[in-house]
Amino acid sequence: MKFIYTLILALLLAAAGTISLNAQKSSINVPLPFDRYYDLEDLYKAIEVLNEAFPELTTAEVITQSEEGRDVWAFTINNPETGDHLAKPGVYVDGNIHGNEIQATEVVLYLMNYLLTNYGEVEKITELVDRNAFYFVPSVNVDGRYHFFNNANTPSTNRGLRVPGDGIRDAVSDRSISNDLNNDGSITQMRKRDPFGQWNTHPEDPRLMVRAEPGEFGEWTLLGQERYDITEDTQISEDAERYVDPNRDWGSNWAPPYVQRGAGDYPFMGNVSKAIAEYMVGRPNIIMVFAFHNTGGMFLRGPGTKARGPLNPSDVAVYDILGENAEKIVPGYDYLISWKDLYSTYGDFTEFTYNTIGAFSFVGELFMARQETYAAYEDLMSADHESLGFGTTTEQDLQRLKFNDNVAHGTLFKEWEPFDHPIYGEIEIGGWAKMSTRISHPFMLKDMAHRNAAAVLFAAAQTPKVEMEITRNERIDDNLNRVRVRLVNHNAIPTMTNHAVQNQLYPQDMLTAEGNNIRVVAGGRVTDRYRDRVNYKEHRPELQFLRVPGTSVVYYDFLVEGNGELTINYNSRKAGQRTANTTIN
Ligand SMILES: [Zn+2]
Repeated sequence: MKFIYTLILALLLAAAGTISLNAQKSSINVPLPFDRYYDLEDLYKAIEVLNEAFPELTTAEVITQSEEGRDVWAFTINNPETGDHLAKPGVYVDGNIHGNEIQATEVVLYLMNYLLTNYGEVEKITELVDRNAFYFVPSVNVDGRYHFFNNANTPSTNRGLRVPGDGIRDAVSDRSISNDLNNDGSITQMRKRDPFGQWNTHPEDPRLMVRAEPGEFGEWTLLGQERYDITEDTQISEDAERYVDPNRDWGSNWAPPYVQRGAGDYPFMGNVSKAIAEYMVGRPNIIMVFAFHNTGGMFLRGPGTKARGPLNPSDVAVYDILGENAEKIVPGYDYLISWKDLYSTYGDFTEFTYNTIGAFSFVGELFMARQETYAAYEDLMSADHESLGFGTTTEQDLQRLKFNDNVAHGTLFKEWEPFDHPIYGEIEIGGWAKMSTRISHPFMLKDMAHRNAAAVLFAAAQTPKVEMEITRNERIDDNLNRVRVRLVNHNAIPTMTNHAVQNQLYPQDMLTAEGNNIRVVAGGRVTDRYRDRVNYKEHRPELQFLRVPGTSVVYYDFLVEGNGELTINYNSRKAGQRTANTTIN
C-alpha cells in the first residue's frame, strides 16, 4: 500500500513538474502581461492566444512576409452580431514601423487585449467594440524587431528595411556598421584618453561626457560606436547596410533619396508598405489611423511638408478635438504639426493615410527621456519642455544616470570598461544600453501603454455615428409629397474628411430615394428648414451626394409623386448604411 501511495505521490509531483515547466516555457496567456517587452516570438504567441481566447470577435491573418521572410500579422476586432466590419467606422492602429521602436508594439497589444478583456464588462468599451471595426498591425517592421531583440544594438539601430547594401562594392554586402566588441548585448560608445581631445568627463559624474571649454583641449576623444575594421582596409564601417526607412516609402508626397535620406528607389519598395496599402484599400471604412513610434511624447498630425499648404480648416478642427484631448490623456505629451514643430517628411505613412485613404491620422511618439527623472516632485512639475523630441540635455542626463543607479539599478547604462582595440589600442567602452534612452524601463510600460491606448479610444469614441430619420411626409399638391430626411452625426468625426471631398478621393456618401410606382420629381439639400428652402440637384434628383460633418445635422427633401412604399438609403464608406421607409399616398 505504502508503495502505491508513494507511486501516486511521485506521479502527482511529476505532473506538477510538467505543468510548471510548460508555464515557464510559455507564460503568455490572456490577459496579456505588460511587465515586459515582447520579442518577435512572444508577439506571435500573443496574437495567437488572443485569437484563440476570443474567436467570435477576432481575426488574425498574415498579410505579407518581410524582406527576410518573417510573417507580418494583422488582427481585426469586430463583433459580427452588430454587423460586417466594412459597415462600421474603421479604426486602424499600428506600431514599430521603425524596428528599434519596440514599445509601439506593446501599446498596440495592450489596446487589443484591453478591448477584448473588457468587452461585455465595461459599458463604454463594449459600445466601442460594437460600433467600430478595429484593425491592428502590432509590428510593421518584423525584421527590425527581430534583430533589435536578438542582436547587439544601440537604442537607435535596426530602424530600416533589410535591404542589402555594399558600400565598398566588393559584392559582399551588409557587413554590420557596428560590432559589440565587449559582447554585452549593447552597442555603446568608445572613448580614448587623448591630451588633444575635445571632450571631458562631467565633474559631477565621470560617466557623462561633455565638450571641452572653447579654446581648451579636453582629456578624451570620442571614437563613436563600438566597431572595428571588418574589411581590414583601415577604413571603418564603410560597408554598412543600406538605409531604407519604411516610413519614407509611401506613395503620397514621396521624394527620392537625394531629397530625403532613407527614401528607397520608388514608393512601396518595402513588402510591408505595399501590403498595408492594399490592406487599407480593401477596408475603405478606415476613418481613423494611429501609428506609434518613439520617441519624444508627441501626437503628430500632417502635413508632412510646408509645401503641402495648411490642412483644410474643418479637418483641422477635428484634429484639434482629438489632439488636444490626447495631450490631456497622456500627461506631458504634446499635440503638434509634423513639418512645423518637428521636421519635414516625404512619403510617410500618415501622409498616405490622410491624403489617399481619407483617414484622420496621428503619429504617436512614445516615451519622454524626462520621465526618467531623479528629482523632487516640485522640480519635476516645473521642468521645462526644452528637450522635446530628440536628444537630452546634460542636466537631464545627470538625472537619468541617477535614475539608472537608484530606480533601474544599473540596467540602463553600461559602465565604462577598458578594452584593447585592434586599431585604437587602449580605449574604454561604455554608455547607454540598448534597452534605454528611447524605451522606458518595463515598470513604466503599462502606464504608458494604457494612457496611449486611451488616447486611441477617445478618437474611436468620436468616429461618425449617424442616425437617419424621415421627419416629414406630407402631401403638398394633388399628386406630390414632400419627404424630409434628417441625418444626425452625434460624434466629432465627420463621415468624410473635407480633404477627401475636395480632392475627390472617392465617391461621397450617397442618399437615395426609390420605390415602386414612385417618381422622384426633385430632391436636394435643405438650406433653410424653417422656410423650406432647398438647393435642388438638377440631374437624377433621387441620388444625392453628401457628407455629414461632425456633431451636426443635415436635411434633404425629396418631392415625389405616385403611391406606395418609399425607401431612403444612406450609404457611406466610413459611416455605414442606414435605411428608412415611408408610405406615399
Ligand atoms: Zn519612428
